[in-house]
Formats: sequence, structure tokens, C-alpha cells
Amino acid sequence: MNDFGFQSGEDFAIAMDARDPLRNYRELFLFPKTAGGGECVYLCGHSLGLQPKTAAAYIAQELKDWAQLGVEGHFRATNPWMPYHKLLTEQTATLVGAKAIEVVVMNSLTVNLHLMMISFYRPTALKHKIVVERGAFPSDQYAVKSQIRFHGFDLASSLIELSPLPGESCLRDEQIESVIEDSGDEIALILLGGVNYATGQAFDMAGVTRAGHARGCVVGFDLAHAAGNLQLKLHEWGPDFAVWCSYKYLNGGPGCVAGCFVHERHAHSWDLGRFAGWWGHDERTRFEMGPDFRAMPGAEGWQLSNPSIISLAVLRASMDIFEEAGMDRLRTKSVMLTSYLEFLLNEILLNHKSSSSFSIVTPRESDRRGAQLSIRIPKNGRTLCEWLTQHGIVGDWREPDTFRIAPVPLYNSYQDVFRFVQRFAAALGLGE
Ligand SMILES: *Cc1c(COP(=O)(O)O)cnc(C)c1O
Repeated sequence: MNDFGFQSGEDFAIAMDARDPLRNYRELFLFPKTAGGGECVYLCGHSLGLQPKTAAAYIAQELKDWAQLGVEGHFRATNPWMPYHKLLTEQTATLVGAKAIEVVVMNSLTVNLHLMMISFYRPTALKHKIVVERGAFPSDQYAVKSQIRFHGFDLASSLIELSPLPGESCLRDEQIESVIEDSGDEIALILLGGVNYATGQAFDMAGVTRAGHARGCVVGFDLAHAAGNLQLKLHEWGPDFAVWCSYKYLNGGPGCVAGCFVHERHAHSWDLGRFAGWWGHDERTRFEMGPDFRAMPGAEGWQLSNPSIISLAVLRASMDIFEEAGMDRLRTKSVMLTSYLEFLLNEILLNHKSSSSFSIVTPRESDRRGAQLSIRIPKNGRTLCEWLTQHGIVGDWREPDTFRIAPVPLYNSYQDVFRFVQRFAAALGLGE
């Protein structure tokens, strides 16, 4: 399948880079070096995004204000720390297709997932089930299972795990629909990844939300692999909540403060149960230090603690770049770049008659995936990936047999993809 007119030679990659309107953004990031001092082919932005060169200056500003102002920095820093997280609200809302009142940056991903479930997973004797993907990211599995047990239910009767049909790697939309159709009355919460971390499959979030709501189920998404990757329209699609981390496609640095979306329809639901902390308290009276919690309207009302300003400073450096590049342009390039990667990999399968040496498990349709392709390598995969690592390729290996790589439109080039596939083909040759 080559709808884009891709060609297999390196000159094609060079020509594509030359006319890529986003090519200069690569210069804004720091690429890790190989042992020999060369630049790595970094295709691991789905695991840890690269550092924006401006991050150091954004951090330095906060360190300087802290040095000069001490505690006064909360109100008098160049960007006062008390409302610092709000500097990210507009950009975050734009990024995920939400209204400002629907988003906040706070905590880390798994913490936010728990906070959302505390408010939105309210099981009853009749409606207590949670629907998840089988083999969801471990942290999500632990969070969901512990919530079920916390409420006194057991996994055997309250957890529904969706598995691909025998012989298939990805879920079909109809499977999700039919579970909702069959068990909707008993389902309290549907919680899916926007993009599955292992297969790279993107779900029809609008469709799942519609089907779930039609049966009175709460719908939430883990967007760890979707934020900064897909063009999201959370407000319009209408899930009740969504959570994501900021260190993958969003380049906020290891352990960066995460993101959270609560749909506007819940913005003033004061009687919704929640776990509270002082940063979620009405900001006008927060520093009166009264004994009774009064939540801020919207997503901000779920904050617990004052956030790490240093961490948010890095996220601002990255989000300023995202704002300028624009998610629509990034996604347009991403569809091309990942299709090009797929094209070159398929060329290997055709030319080298090595059709059983690997397969791509990620869906072929661009609207069913993001940047990432997951390559299943049934034999010697681990050794092959170690060889690639020694030869300057950064991707990531998941036991037992999957190599995940993501050309990221913000800083990866067509030549990165070309070089990777060249070395990948060489590595396969070694195993033959
Ligand atoms: C990366 C990732 C996590 C990591 O959770 P943290 O709380 O940030 O450590 C959780 N869930 C998914 C789906 C992920 O992709």
C-alpha cells in the first residue's frame, strides 16, 4: 500500500526532509549521542521525549527567582508560582481539544487515574464492572484492580478484559461495541488507552464514548500514548475524564507533572465524591487556611498539592514549541512519516523474501494508529535489538517479542526513518 508515492532510495528521504515545513523543529531538541560520539537515530519519543534546548533556560529562570526572592517567589517571581500551573492551561486545552475549565496539569499519571476513579467509578451491586484492554499498561491494570477490590468487589465478576480475536493482534471496534451492548447495564466504567502502548492501536474514542454513555456507563481514557501524538477532541467526543503523562510525546522530562481532563458537565458537580487537597480548594480563599474544603470549579478542583515548578518549567518549554508547530501540522506529518516507515519495512519483506522474520502488529489504517509501529520479531528479537542499540538506534524492546518504534513528527526526519530501516535490514541479515 503506497498511496503517498513513496520511493525506496535515500534521495527520496532527503527530498522529503527538504520540503518538510516542520523540518526546523528538529534543531530545537537535544539528541543523545552514541558511544562513538555520533548522533543516535532516536525513535523512542513514545517512551521518553527529547529535551527541548530551551528547557535549561526555563528552569534557570525559576532557580534565579527562588534565589533572589525566596518564599516571595510564590507571588513575585517573573512567573509567580502560586498560579504557575495556569500558564499551561490554554496550551493544554488546545492540545487535547478541550475547554480551559476542563484541563489541569497536576501530580503524575497513575495518581490522576486513581483520583478520577475515586470520583467516577462508583460501583453499585448491579452496575460495578470495569472494561479495560487485556494487557493494558501494568500501572493501569494495578490501578483498576485495586479500585475494584477497594470497593469490595472481586475481579472475577467485576473486571472485563477485552482481547483481540484468536490470531489477531488488535481489537476490533465491533468487539468493544458488542461488550457494551451485552453488558452495558452492569458496566460502571469503560477505561481504555487512547492508543494502546503495546500495539500502537488507536481507539475510536468518540464511538466508544457514545456507545458507553448510551448505556449509562462512565467513560475515561488513558492518553499516555495519545497526548501530543493524535489530534484529540475531548470536549466534543465527551468522555467523562482523561489522564495522560507529559514525558512521552510531550517532552516534559522524566517524571514530569501529568495532565488531567474532566468534562465540563462535571465542572460544578460539587457533591461528586473526591479526595481533596488544598490546591484544589477555591483559590480565592485557599490562603485563609479554613477547615472546610470548597472545590475549584472544573478540573482544577481535583488538584491536591502545589506542583513542582521546576518540572512545569520544562513542560512550558515544550508546550511553547507545540503551540507554534500546531497539532494539526504535526499530525499531518506524522501520518506521512509513519506510513513511510511502514512502506520501507514492507519493502524489506518483499525484497528479502524474509516474510516470516518480522511482522507489523499495528493497524495499517492511519486513523487507527498514531506515530508508533510495533514490530513483532518471533525469533532472536532481543539479540537483534541489542545489535541495533550498539549501532545507534534507540527504540524499545518489550518482552517477549515486540520492538516498538515511533518516528515523532516534531523532531524526527525522513532520513531518521531511512537510516533505521537500513540498519534493521542489516540486523535481519545477521540472523539469517
Ligand atoms: C507510560 C504509562 C504509564 C506510566 O505511569 P506513571 O504514573 O507516569 O509512572 C501509565 N499508563 C500508561 C498507559 C502508560 O503508557
